[in-house]
Amino acid sequence: MPILLVEDDDDLAVGLKTALQNEGFAVNRVALGRDALGAVAAAVPDIVILDIGLPDIDGLTVLQRIRKTLPDLPVIILTARATLDDKVAGLDCGADDYLAKPFETEELLARLRVMQRRLSTVKSNEIEIGPVTLDTVTQDVRIGTERVELARREYMLLKALMENAGRVQTREALEDRLYSWGEEIASNAVEVHIHHLRKKLAPDFIKTVRGVGYVIDKA
Ligand code: CA
Repeated sequence: MPILLVEDDDDLAVGLKTALQNEGFAVNRVALGRDALGAVAAAVPDIVILDIGLPDIDGLTVLQRIRKTLPDLPVIILTARATLDDKVAGLDCGADDYLAKPFETEELLARLRVMQRRLSTVKSNEIEIGPVTLDTVTQDVRIGTERVELARREYMLLKALMENAGRVQTREALEDRLYSWGEEIASNAVEVHIHHLRKKLAPDFIKTVRGVGYVIDKA
């Protein structure tokens, strides 16, 4: 489950990112409000953890801008201003939850688990195309009832293609996808992973659009 972490305090951000990754979340961390808006525009995460005190755009303003296009994206705000007024302002701006600094990492993880449960009941977490089913919560991929073991990057690419079925994904866009979630990748990584995916799924499930990229046809 991809999380966007918006936090300018490096020490706090690094600690949180590690803790979240250990829980199995894919974490994209940015330090500025404008980078947060850019990241959300590039690929919508499942949850945003948003610090209010940012050096460029105030976190509440970031939240209001996110809400204009994504009214349902779950957002947890973090703030050092632990007064009731700030809490109310945050919730008024459309935050789903609120943590006052300093907080225990365990507390944040507990809130995230609640949010994850809510998400998995609200939105359908399975994408089914032809014989292939991908569960975005458990990250299970199946062909029929048979579970397929995928490496993390293979899963990420397959998810990007299945979520955009019928729309060609350029090689650059798929590379960006790997980069944006903090993956170090080689120049031919996308081709290599697609090659492996084809062997594991079915040779013709992912189609090559010569000179452009890849596509999975709609079911
Ligand atoms: Ca801050």
